[in-house]
Amino acid sequence: MYNIERQQMIDCARAMQQHGLIVMSGGNVSRRMPCGNILVTPSAMSYDTMCLEDLVLMDPEGRILEGTRRPSSDHRALLYIFRHMPHINVILHTHQPYAVSLSLVADELPACTTTLIDELQGAVPVAPFTPSSEEGMGVAAVSAATGSLAVILKHHGVMAWGKDISQALSAAVYLEDACKGYLAALATGLPVARLSEEQIAEESRERGYYGQP
Ligand SMILES: [Zn+2]
Repeated sequence: MYNIERQQMIDCARAMQQHGLIVMSGGNVSRRMPCGNILVTPSAMSYDTMCLEDLVLMDPEGRILEGTRRPSSDHRALLYIFRHMPHINVILHTHQPYAVSLSLVADELPACTTTLIDELQGAVPVAPFTPSSEEGMGVAAVSAATGSLAVILKHHGVMAWGKDISQALSAAVYLEDACKGYLAALATGLPVARLSEEQIAEESRERGYYGQP
């Protein structure tokens, strides 16, 4: 069941690898199906050799409906996020290094570039540390969420999300790029310029031109 969706998730995990957001078997991809059940990548398996049957289909309470692999060890946190964020359908969990670096020195990635406003819908908060593989990681992510498409997990990684894979992957990749730029600005030791609320609102306004019709 859901073979097209499963392949899209494996392709997404491989894209996360190619963009340097994860290495080895780190991170995970999860996706809410229209019926409410959740597909999750398996725990600690290489994305290079992962096949459709390795993914695990769970109900919203975590009961396994299809699959013989153990689901990602973060599945309790992922299910918590899906339960509390009904508007999202995909969660990407990464260990992207620039976002993790930023979490060690800042409590937020401010909305200080147009890309952050356009691709992540605003500033990205840093959630306080919680142990991995526990539901508390999901609780911390939901508590810290501010309406943008990601939360950085202090000392750990990122939860990026969206209505579909394309939006969530774009958020994770642009977040890493933005963290790299922000850290470079911080490293100068000079004051980092901020955008005003008015400027952020102006940039957020739909102008109906970007992209193809
Ligand atoms: Zn992790």
